[in-house]
Amino acid sequence: MSDAIDKNRRSLIQLGLVCGTSFVIRPALAFADELLDLVAPEINNVVAVRIWPSHIYTRITIEADYDIQSAATTGADSLIVDLANSHLNTILQSMPKKIINSDPIIKAISVIQQDTTTVRIKVSLKQAVKIQMKTIAPVDLAGVSYQYRYVIDMYPDTTTSLDDKLNDDILALLQLQSNGTEDVHVIASSPIIPKTYKKQSDKKLLVMLDPGHGGEDPGAIGPTGIKEKDVVLDIGYKLYNIINSTDYMEAKLTRTQDIFIPLGTRVAIARKAKADVFISIHADAFTTPKARGASVFVLSDHGSSSGFAKWLAKTQNDSDLIGGMSFKSKDKITSSVLLDMTETMTNKKSTQLALNLLPNLSKIGRLHNRQVEKAAFAVLKAPDIPSVLVETAFISNPDEENQLKNSDFRQKIAEMIFAGINKSKSHFL
Ligand SMILES: [Zn+2]
Repeated sequence: MSDAIDKNRRSLIQLGLVCGTSFVIRPALAFADELLDLVAPEINNVVAVRIWPSHIYTRITIEADYDIQSAATTGADSLIVDLANSHLNTILQSMPKKIINSDPIIKAISVIQQDTTTVRIKVSLKQAVKIQMKTIAPVDLAGVSYQYRYVIDMYPDTTTSLDDKLNDDILALLQLQSNGTEDVHVIASSPIIPKTYKKQSDKKLLVMLDPGHGGEDPGAIGPTGIKEKDVVLDIGYKLYNIINSTDYMEAKLTRTQDIFIPLGTRVAIARKAKADVFISIHADAFTTPKARGASVFVLSDHGSSSGFAKWLAKTQNDSDLIGGMSFKSKDKITSSVLLDMTETMTNKKSTQLALNLLPNLSKIGRLHNRQVEKAAFAVLKAPDIPSVLVETAFISNPDEENQLKNSDFRQKIAEMIFAGINKSKSHFL
């Protein structure tokens, strides 16, 4: 029995007890250690609190060994959240210390035991907010495991939530396409993509750089604890600077800080900016430390090119499970559209870019695969923007983790990706 399953069973039993509902334990689950829990139930525990401020929203995450039930009321300058069946422990008490002055939303936080079973969190706000609250079920993915996470996302009230807005935009495009034909010209003449979308030759090539993961989702973690999300953000910034130092290309970033952005939203950000190319930057991990080298992926709609690619697509796409936002309900539409898109120009351009990236990346290290890999990465699914995902190196390999720690090495990676884009630029304008 794995630890994760064991933990879940315990939580279920504890929940049943705490909620006072009759909870029937099937005989198969009634292992001796769990019976001990029944005799002396542990108190519900909050195990971690994290606050992620960003320019888009501020997220509070409360991780616990139980499914937190809550009630919230918002005022113009405060938000009150009551956590049921909860008790004030040192972790909750530490919340006020986690606020940073530059947080655009949160001014202060106080946490008290309101009554015997309720913890009250009062958030003083710098501006009016819209809130979204949800509980994310426990996940255990690619070596990262989380218990129940109760998440409060606070958006400035001036706009609709960016996530909804952007996801709606891409949904509209995809619906249009699934109702219509697979001819890309139909998309190009739709109201969503203005006809001016095609760049004039005097326009700069707009490259959307997408540093993977972020915020709640650390990505892969190296043997000494280096996090993929930090490494790829730095490579993204370095590449951003190189590209923006030219007079014929412009770079933008899907994220500029340590923030979680859902995969679908990353695609929508690129579409919204009318990017000419989309490059997602990652650092690999695999189940054995020996795996090494860079790889470049393009989208496949008919399964992955190798068992490894399949495994990787699963772990990368699980990002949304970790971050607790979903584009899932819309995924069905995405797939049906994508089945029709194998031979589109977009795909050919993506492959051309990947072919130009590989020889450049091979100059700074060995390649994991000399061929362009194909995988069903959610982040590559913009139907009208050539997109590649670069796995720069294996963070799970001790030697390569060591290289990734080195700023000069990250700079070289950025330079080599730039060289690959540069060589392909005529394909995109
Ligand atoms: Zn990744």
